[in-house]
Amino acid sequence: MNCPECGAPDDICKTRFDEFLVLEFTDASFGAVHHLTVSAYMLQHSSKLTREGWLHERELLREFLVENKPPAFIRKQNRDLVDSGKRKFKITSKNGLPVISKTSWTKTILDVRTENAEVYCADVTAWARSVLDDVLGLIV
Ligand SMILES: [Zn+2]
Repeated sequence: MNCPECGAPDDICKTRFDEFLVLEFTDASFGAVHHLTVSAYMLQHSSKLTREGWLHERELLREFLVENKPPAFIRKQNRDLVDSGKRKFKITSKNGLPVISKTSWTKTILDVRTENAEVYCADVTAWARSVLDDVLGLIV
């Protein structure tokens, strides 16, 4: 069965995502794009997120790619929000309902090659940019 959210055959997107996380945690040169991998994957699999969580993730990806904010800076901002109790919404959802109904994407995680860190980081960045382009105008 194809993934109902990103369209990947046999749901291999989830397997691929888990493999990528291992790769990113074990090799820092792959890990350089970890923040993009997570945001792009989560935006395409919106059933894992609440509506607020999905919008938050889209804004994060925009800050990474358009405003070029460094991941460490954004993580700190988020931590401060949580610590100060200012973030009132839940990020993850357990009800399994997608936030968006989009299934046709310019790129998916299957477009990312893993031969070496250079190729990997370029492909993850291209995938993340295409996801941002695909969802930027969506009203949820
Ligand atoms: Zn998928």
